[in-house]
Amino acid sequence: RFNHARFIPPDAIFALTAEYLQDSHPQKVNLGQGTYRDGDGKPWVLPSVTRARETLSAQGLNHEYLPILGLQTFREATAEAVLGSELFAQQKSKLATCQSLSGTGALHLAGLLLRACQSPLPKIYIPEPTWSNHHQVFSSLGFPCESFKYYDHDTRDLDIESYYSTLKNAEPQSIVILHACAHNPTGCDPTKEQWREIAQLMKDRQLFPLFDAAYLGFNSGNYDEDAFAIRYFVGEMEMEAGICLSFAKNMGLYGKFRGYPPIWRAKRKRSPELIENAMIGERVGCFMLATKTSEAAVNTQSMLEMLQRSEVSNPPAFGAKIASQVMGTKELKEMWFTDMVTMSGRIRSMRKALYDHLLSFGAPGSWDHLIRQSGMFGFLGLSPEVVLKLKNEYHVYMAGNSRISIAGLNPSNVEYVARSITQCLKD
Ligand code: PMP
Repeated sequence: RFNHARFIPPDAIFALTAEYLQDSHPQKVNLGQGTYRDGDGKPWVLPSVTRARETLSAQGLNHEYLPILGLQTFREATAEAVLGSELFAQQKSKLATCQSLSGTGALHLAGLLLRACQSPLPKIYIPEPTWSNHHQVFSSLGFPCESFKYYDHDTRDLDIESYYSTLKNAEPQSIVILHACAHNPTGCDPTKEQWREIAQLMKDRQLFPLFDAAYLGFNSGNYDEDAFAIRYFVGEMEMEAGICLSFAKNMGLYGKFRGYPPIWRAKRKRSPELIENAMIGERVGCFMLATKTSEAAVNTQSMLEMLQRSEVSNPPAFGAKIASQVMGTKELKEMWFTDMVTMSGRIRSMRKALYDHLLSFGAPGSWDHLIRQSGMFGFLGLSPEVVLKLKNEYHVYMAGNSRISIAGLNPSNVEYVARSITQCLKD
């Protein structure tokens, strides 16, 4: 039966991290995986999240099943945060929501629902370049995926004309993947004006917007600002839309707990429950569907319930409880917004520091694109040969397309990275 099974090479970014971990060079730098690091290069547990965990722990956590659609308070708080209170109040009865296994799980649920609702299967238009998993998620569900040019490698900017032209010529009823903000990997987003044009073109052509919203609040530090496109499509344009949310980046809930914040260390001995909680995985996301009628919302939600039941039965509770606590408590929500400003601010300052060092070392070429981009990533524009050389000779690790996670930079390594890039380019 399995004699003809194909070997699938490991995922490039996860394989790169494994290589980095094996490297014993003292100056090694990991700019591959998109995970936030603090100024000392350490994973950061958001203070708002720490506080939420303490509250939950004091309340006494249990390990019961959640409902199939996930934690109700989490689903509501998420929808309200994304749409803003006013639009949420207007749209509430027309929304279907389902907790998911982080952003990837939300995309997968979206694909399952769209596949069940549309026959023949619609095309999915995906920007090129994009997050490496988009094609895999949707092609594994059988969708025909078509890339369109999003980024111009010469101008090192968004190719808006190619974007518009794709939408004007797209097959009606198709689906388009839209990065809600902080496009991965290019860091180039449409302006508000361009978003308005994109929405109009999509509406005219009856295209379905599927927002991948993995970086809300993380881009600018302002959640409302980052949710502009979603709110515009749903609110102003009154369009149906799917929204796939992740709390990995903006709440730092990537996977499992990786270290105790200082406040916990003292308590650790006294509270075995804290240790137990710390071992629980917490990946959490949400799929939200904005429909046109309350009947469509009830029906699609019932379909999501059936699809979720057949996939994972019901989602894990811990991350949803944390996120719900953070978003549902006024004080913690304010702390969370401050945490997002801290993260996005540190990333911005490292972006600038890298840029300044590259200029001061006289790195060949222009680097303005680095400070034009925003979000977690910098798209350097280096050749695969230079990327390889940086890894092999300088122990600086980055994705093959020269995307770097700016969060991997800190005051102790940014100069080294800039010098290494400069030397590689001058050699
Ligand atoms: N979409 C994009 C654009 C991403 O960059 C990521 C994470 N790298 C995700 C979705 C999904 O992430 P997760 O499943 O970890 O929430």
